[in-house]
Amino acid sequence: MTDGEGLRLETRAVHSGRGVDPATGAVTLPIHLTTTFERDPDGSFPHGHSYSRTGNPNRAALETALADLEGGVAAAAFASGQAATAAVFQALAPGDHVIAPLDAYFGTIALLREVFGPWGLETTFVDMTDPAQIEAALRPATRLIWAETPSNPLLKVTDIARVADIARASGAALAVDNTWCSPMAQLPLSLGADLVMHSTTKYLNGHSDVLGGAVIAREAGGLMQRVRFIQGTGGAVAAPFDCWLVLRGLRTLPVRLRAQTESAGQVAAFLESHPNVEAVHYPGLESHPGHTVARRQMRLFGGMLSFQVRGGEREAFAVAARLRVITRATSLGGTESLIEHRASIEGPDTRSPVNLLRLSVGLEHPDDLIDDLAAALA
Ligand code: PLP
Repeated sequence: MTDGEGLRLETRAVHSGRGVDPATGAVTLPIHLTTTFERDPDGSFPHGHSYSRTGNPNRAALETALADLEGGVAAAAFASGQAATAAVFQALAPGDHVIAPLDAYFGTIALLREVFGPWGLETTFVDMTDPAQIEAALRPATRLIWAETPSNPLLKVTDIARVADIARASGAALAVDNTWCSPMAQLPLSLGADLVMHSTTKYLNGHSDVLGGAVIAREAGGLMQRVRFIQGTGGAVAAPFDCWLVLRGLRTLPVRLRAQTESAGQVAAFLESHPNVEAVHYPGLESHPGHTVARRQMRLFGGMLSFQVRGGEREAFAVAARLRVITRATSLGGTESLIEHRASIEGPDTRSPVNLLRLSVGLEHPDDLIDDLAAALA
């Protein structure tokens, strides 16, 4: 099935980009480990592919599914989330101006500051939860507004529709990093964004065993045409086996994210009531400053939260050290719960509070996670 029109997201997650293999009847797509494809005597490519850097059946299947799930018309799959982000910035031209969030993923900030700054892009970093700051940062050369919501690691919520209005009025494009949500939780293109970026390493694959990224677009021309050109020419493409694995992960995305959201809500409520926790950041909590916007634009509040341990860095490390079920590791969106001290992984330029722990809630029983945290916080 390639056209999911009219079907619900859960059904499309199972079927998009898939079909029975005409050669064998296999119900899952074979992994096409070929680098090149035979030409017909007249020089044409009868199966639509010529060389795997510019296209491969596994990548095409994944891109079809991603475009369908995000409600876009085109997608480009990359070897990592960072490669996808870099392709969007490369699609701009030296001299262009970008507005990005102060608390974007630190790798995004590093790309803008350390790679694309010297290349010629100028970036203004703002608090994206405040539309006035975005409007004040606009310049005639502003070509792109980059948003990430909920943000990493404080889960600040940006009003996507509001920022899309600002972008449209100024002639800039809006790109949203939807990694923390996935299309199950949030559909930025339907709220007016032009591009969606994903680290497919996270929820879309969902099993902590693939690095990947993708850009999905509302329109095939313009910036997306450039992104596709950079994908095929730059060559930071997703490998066939990786595409196959992400496509397999997509089948269970809706059930995984629903269960992770439910558990995250319970864990957040437990942490909020604990005397040794100073603050909990989860958009599903009524106490969260972005809760009203989150209710409006998110279908699910997601499986990510962070909390600040009463005390300082030492106390936060001590809590993480005592956990037995939750694993201390970076990354997110897998089946296993992961906890991370963000400030120490981000380095000296970090804006993360030193007593903050970020938690990616997995698929364990929520009571086991709460017991684990209760013992560690005691
Ligand atoms: N965007 C966000 C929000 C992330 O959390 C990450 C990685 O943690 C990335 C982008 C980069 O993705 P990757 O590690 O696949 O390059």
